[in-house]
Amino acid sequence: MDVMQTALVYLKGVGPERARLLKEELQLKTFQDLLHFFPNRYIDRSRFYPINDLPKNNSEIQIKGRITSVSYVTQKRGKRMVARFEDGTGQMELIWFRGHQWIRDQLKINEEYVIFGRLNWFQGKASMPHPELELKRNFEQNLKISFYPIYPSTEKLVNKGISQKVIQKMVVQLLQNHNATFSETLPHALLSQYKLISKDVALKQIHFPDSQHQLSRAQMRLKFEEFFYMQMQLVLKNVQRKQKIKGHVFKNVGANFNDFFNHHLEFDLTDAQKRVIKEIRFDMGTGRQMNRLLQGDVGSGKTIVALLLMLIAVDNDFQTCLVAPTEILAQQHFKSLSNQLEKLKINIALLTGSSTKKERQFIHQGLENGELNILIGTHAVLEDTVQFKKLGLAIIDEQHRFGVAQRAKLWQKNELPPHVLVMTATPIPRTLAMSVYGDLDLSVIDQLPPGRKKVKTLHRTDSNRLKVFAFLKEQINLGRQIYIVYPLIQESSKLDYKDLMDGYESISRSFPTPNYQISIVHGQMKSEDKIYEMNRFIKGKTQIMVATTVIEVGVNVPNASVMIIESAERFGLSQLHQLRGRVGRGADQSYCILMTGSKLSTEAQTRMETMTQTNDGFAIAEVDLKLRGPGNIMGTQQSGILQFKIADLIQDQALLKAAREQALRILNQDPNLKDTDHQCIKRTLSALKFDSNIWNFIS
Ligand code: ADP
Ligand code: MG
Repeated sequence: MDVMQTALVYLKGVGPERARLLKEELQLKTFQDLLHFFPNRYIDRSRFYPINDLPKNNSEIQIKGRITSVSYVTQKRGKRMVARFEDGTGQMELIWFRGHQWIRDQLKINEEYVIFGRLNWFQGKASMPHPELELKRNFEQNLKISFYPIYPSTEKLVNKGISQKVIQKMVVQLLQNHNATFSETLPHALLSQYKLISKDVALKQIHFPDSQHQLSRAQMRLKFEEFFYMQMQLVLKNVQRKQKIKGHVFKNVGANFNDFFNHHLEFDLTDAQKRVIKEIRFDMGTGRQMNRLLQGDVGSGKTIVALLLMLIAVDNDFQTCLVAPTEILAQQHFKSLSNQLEKLKINIALLTGSSTKKERQFIHQGLENGELNILIGTHAVLEDTVQFKKLGLAIIDEQHRFGVAQRAKLWQKNELPPHVLVMTATPIPRTLAMSVYGDLDLSVIDQLPPGRKKVKTLHRTDSNRLKVFAFLKEQINLGRQIYIVYPLIQESSKLDYKDLMDGYESISRSFPTPNYQISIVHGQMKSEDKIYEMNRFIKGKTQIMVATTVIEVGVNVPNASVMIIESAERFGLSQLHQLRGRVGRGADQSYCILMTGSKLSTEAQTRMETMTQTNDGFAIAEVDLKLRGPGNIMGTQQSGILQFKIADLIQDQALLKAAREQALRILNQDPNLKDTDHQCIKRTLSALKFDSNIWNFIS
């Protein structure tokens, strides 16, 4: 067995009690864990602060000086021990609240000490509670390291005597005793290409750096390694799936596709649309099962791509489904697809939560006997009772959180799993796509249909409201339609509902009937009422749509040219961008007006500025990532894979990209890792199976 898998209890200086605490508090179980438990910062040990020039904050610092006296001060609970500490420039107090006798016995009065700890300021006076002390002569003898590593820790560990010094000693122990067993984990070719230092040097330098330069090199090497093995596992997963899992072969581009493409397509496809259709068509013809993510900014025309791909499935005698996140969107897809396919001999149906029993029966029958070619629906489509005769392609619209479990559900529907295409609502920053979807193939529509006018985005406060309303009247007189959206954090939130209703009333007063007609859609309405109201707006019977974020995704009303977002500061960037994507779909100049209060947090201010400055969904996604961090963007479901020991998805994008390229290249050239230079990869991958986080996520 690998020595590094040894339990920490067997390390010199770690008894059962400490081993238990380390496991509970820091999840450190083995030698390996401790070795890869990296400091989160370093203190420069060559630097001492004079007492008369201490930093005026609670930083951790080092001071040289003497203890001149020790006294006890009684306080409410117990008493504290106070040592007077002087360095020639001034004096301060060192304080202990516990373990007095034991510490008192060790303290040497009037001998020179080096102390280290966190400053505490009270009424302009500095003190240091529970400092770490070392006699200066010992300090100088021991001074082999110039940077003092500070490890993440917890209060409990400190209270139980597991100080920074104790952790350091354990690491030193490990480095000294087992240095010989740290085998290299990266191929030589990579080390030399990226000028990376070896694993054993990196480990030594990350814990006890000789210089800032050495530390940076160690960090770079370890970050690269971390990314590389994450990518290796993801790419390997993809490769193995392709080897193991057969897929339906779509050989034909047949009658339906050609008929539609040549006679019913209302516009020319953009080059980007053509390219992704080609990529996907190719992938569905290889005999392997496709698992692909289609990214495209709002309005880039993903729906028509989906339609054409579904026709390919039908041309190959397969059934296909399109799953949308909301009923409104499913309904809308159904309408538009039925219209477009009217002249073709294709059976298409809609299945949602509000389909009647009779409709369901009819649909189930059609699916099972194969007469139904295309099923559009909400997640109701994924229910176990929905069985297809021959499901060949499943397209999931507007959802980048379509998880592993949901994908698995589709697999149960037939003997061979269908090809799966997930279309994303929001551009995902490149680094996140590479991590969370590293096991999927990716197609990107990076181009908007021609002739789109850029949506003009303005930020206004409540004091501008009259002007904004006057502007809306102008637009309505020109024949345009308007969305006014209110935030809805939780479907049931009473406060949000009240905001919406207050807003609706004030809008009704400013835009009275019969000149103006207003629709309203919100989460507490019955599904059929929502659809009724939505349809009035789509047909142009109402000029204003007051809504909560139910219209966030997918809704397509080209004549709507103004999007007002109320309390815009309460929306995240990706939501704002989605909402803005509802306008700018027709030929007219469109506007998005962000209404906020006048006092905004810096973060909210950044969001508003980002929105007014750019329409590029990918750029917005990058800002969003910086503001919110990876975990919040992808949701907890994926958080496991976003936790890194040392690498940082925001700071280290270039390294991640390089690591992914290398993982892809290596597995492409040497899929079974036979090359001698790749033996280290093989070894490391099998050791990594111990690492539950990443493995759980992707298997
Ligand atoms: P999204 O990618 O956000 O789902 P949609 O598929 O809803 O975008 O397309 C937005 C609008 O653009 C629709 O009205 C659609 O008909 C239109 N559209 C899509 N592709 C093109 C194209 N190549 N040329 C012109 N209009 C297009
Ligand atoms: Mg769409």
